[in-house]
Amino acid sequence: MRKTLIAGNWKMNLTVTEAEKFFKAFKIQKKEGTELLFCPPFTDIPIARFFLDRSSIRWGAQNVYPEEKGAFTGEISAPMLKDLGCSYVICGHSERRQILGESDEFVARKVKAVLENDMIPILCVGETEEERKEGQTEERIGSEIRTALFALSKEETAKMVIAYEPIWAIGSGQAATPKDAEEIASFIRKTVKEAAGKKAADEVRILYGGSVNGDNISHFLKQKNIDGALIGGASLKPDTMIDIYNKA
Ligand code: PGA
Repeated sequence: MRKTLIAGNWKMNLTVTEAEKFFKAFKIQKKEGTELLFCPPFTDIPIARFFLDRSSIRWGAQNVYPEEKGAFTGEISAPMLKDLGCSYVICGHSERRQILGESDEFVARKVKAVLENDMIPILCVGETEEERKEGQTEERIGSEIRTALFALSKEETAKMVIAYEPIWAIGSGQAATPKDAEEIASFIRKTVKEAAGKKAADEVRILYGGSVNGDNISHFLKQKNIDGALIGGASLKPDTMIDIYNKA
């Protein structure tokens, strides 16, 4: 069955010096059936690799540019991330969609580039507070997913991770209720089924993200369609991340 994924998204936090300190303090007892992942800033990926290489913990990136190489000043390609041992790449986080103006189509190209380079995309989808109030949650998430899956084979879709992150819950301390998150996770699985068939829908992993912490993690993981969590703020301290992992 689907393996639980606990993923830390450090966002634009922790210098190399701070990351080194973090990994020195990060000690866990490996648990079968639960995968642990850190997505630090690009600059911390080599130090993450240094510390995690001989462990079961994986590392990945928070973003990618969807071209192989060339004149794209300041960008990082999927082959570059693959060469650094990344297993996963977050695509279309709401902060990138909102602050940097990434469109659904641009995010779809990133997802494809990640899969073509044998890494797993974590596609982030989610509604704003306003869309939620207007009853447009499913419409928004449905179109984010359909656009991302459009150019993928069923086999590629099956490998994906989709993170449901309601924008109003991110960094706000106000997580969605496990019941509401499950309802959307079930809608996501249904949308994947319509686009890529039952097998892909059964295999795709769905995470919840938005103010996850050691107190609420187990409530989310009890839900039928939720296979893990994408964790921002709480992933920045070794103790809180260890606590979440132990409860997962
Ligand atoms: P948060 O962020 O856990 O700090 O709410 C989650 C995310 O943006 O991935």
